[in-house]
Amino acid sequence: MNSSMNKSKQKIAIIGAGPGGLAASLLLAHQGHEVTIYERNERIGGRSSVIQLDQFTFDAGPTFFIYRYVLDDVFKRIGKKLEDYVNLKPIEPLYDLYFTNKVFRPYRDHGKMMKEIHRVFPGEENGYQLYLKKESKRLKKLLPVLQLPFNTPFQFLNPKVLAALDEIDIGKSLYSRLKQFFHQDELIYSMAFQAKYLGMSPWDCPSIFSMLSYMEHEYGVYHIIGGLYQLNEAMAKIATEMGVSIKLSQPVQKLNVYKKKIDKIKVNQKWIKIDTVVLNGDFSHAIQLLDDDVRPKRYKNNQLKNLQYSCSTFNLYLGLDKLFPLAHHNVIFSKDYAAYVKALTKELTLSKDPSFYIQNPSAIDRSFAPENQSTMYILVPVPHLKANLDWPSLTQSFTDLILTRIEKLPGMKDLRKHIVKQRVITPLDWQDQYHVYLGANFNLAHDFTQLLYFRPHNRFQGLKNLYLVGGGTHPGSGLPTIYQSAIIAADLIGS
Ligand SMILES: Cc1cc2nc3c(=O)[nH]c(=O)nc-3n(C[C@H](O)[C@H](O)[C@H](O)COP(=O)(O)OP(=O)(O)OC[C@H]3O[C@@H](n4cnc5c(N)ncnc54)[C@H](O)[C@@H]3O)c2cc1C
Repeated sequence: MNSSMNKSKQKIAIIGAGPGGLAASLLLAHQGHEVTIYERNERIGGRSSVIQLDQFTFDAGPTFFIYRYVLDDVFKRIGKKLEDYVNLKPIEPLYDLYFTNKVFRPYRDHGKMMKEIHRVFPGEENGYQLYLKKESKRLKKLLPVLQLPFNTPFQFLNPKVLAALDEIDIGKSLYSRLKQFFHQDELIYSMAFQAKYLGMSPWDCPSIFSMLSYMEHEYGVYHIIGGLYQLNEAMAKIATEMGVSIKLSQPVQKLNVYKKKIDKIKVNQKWIKIDTVVLNGDFSHAIQLLDDDVRPKRYKNNQLKNLQYSCSTFNLYLGLDKLFPLAHHNVIFSKDYAAYVKALTKELTLSKDPSFYIQNPSAIDRSFAPENQSTMYILVPVPHLKANLDWPSLTQSFTDLILTRIEKLPGMKDLRKHIVKQRVITPLDWQDQYHVYLGANFNLAHDFTQLLYFRPHNRFQGLKNLYLVGGGTHPGSGLPTIYQSAIIAADLIGS
């Protein structure tokens, strides 16, 4: 439902100017409400903000923009077009995947992809055709389920859920789903590494998330010229034009509950009366703004640590005095991918042979660095902070390990000699500077005990006027689902 008209004008406080909070602000302002965003940081964007190191620009977090249609929908609902605000560039081939003895370059163009499979994984072509056919049918059934608000268990009886039951495959993993189509593990990993977007292992991640690689293959991967953070800048600009007030460096300190409703919020030691609150901060961190006694047992302070969390990330941002010959998106796989994933998600240890991702945006977009210079963004999935790793003493040796691996790639031999600026963000920094619980960047894990009705609800359990948006609520982490959470919450408020 597209609720463009509100029944009565409400005073709405949105806590956090991350992608979820910004998208919600547009939809709620369009409904005619008085909307204020309170953001604790001095800039918008949260984990999707920008990092500036002198002349070098970096996206802090997201670099993959997939399934743009949800954001298109947000813009359409407010009478705008995304293309009028940002310059979207489709990436083709999608990415370069480095295995021990081969580089695989998947394409969105199915004809080119068939040739690439024939080149690198001959004999797997029919499996790919079957994968496309089955995943297309599956996505058509699953998407309407993700668009439902799972505020009550009765939602499981919704005809859309019932129609999708045969596709949900409870108990089946992403790896076993892909094994139905493909024989060679490296090809399976090429379609499974996207579990990283949820911070999960392909062997634990529910099979429904095969939709992630399918979305890339069918609908493409986009870059936003200038950086993905431009999506936030665009939303903030429109929000301001629509009358939304964005207050930076204004952390919300407390939510007061009276008769199962939040009646006021505390900002700068002052209480402000409100009608409705939309919470966008990282779930397990921000929910602590509520007193323990008004939260469901599962989300009380002494229980938060017992929930399942995604992995964290170790990020390196390099400013370089030359251009390097890498593609825009690159994934460097461990020699033993299964062992690495086990260390990451089960043993909670730091692998000596991790898989990691490199973005070389200057390959397609010269706005990140001055002429003949470039930037490089490196993301290594590492265990969240339950692992108790001593990051201050590990940071240098782990940085060296990663740079040594990169220097072994073709054309990358003297990378270290060309670093003129460098910043590192460890899981501890994600926790302390970005306020992400346990540094678990992709929020609560996405297993079936924490999905749909079992994930924190978009209208939070037990309170009449607290709504959640962002990666920690339904439908889940990743930009498309985060924008979807904003649509669901706004529809609930407007209904
Ligand atoms: C390194 C990394 C890489 C990623 N890569 C991708 C990718 O390629 N593609 C993709 O789709 N997704 C990716 N993600 C996941 C996801 O898209 C981002 O994390 C996204 O920014 C999450 O958005 P959000 O709306 O949930 O909240 P956040 O970005 O976490 O924003 C929440 C905001 O709330 C604010 N806040 C919290 N508490 C308070 C308070 N008390 N008062 C006021 N303000 C408060 C915070 O300061 C923050 O600005 C990545 C994430 C990370 C960290």
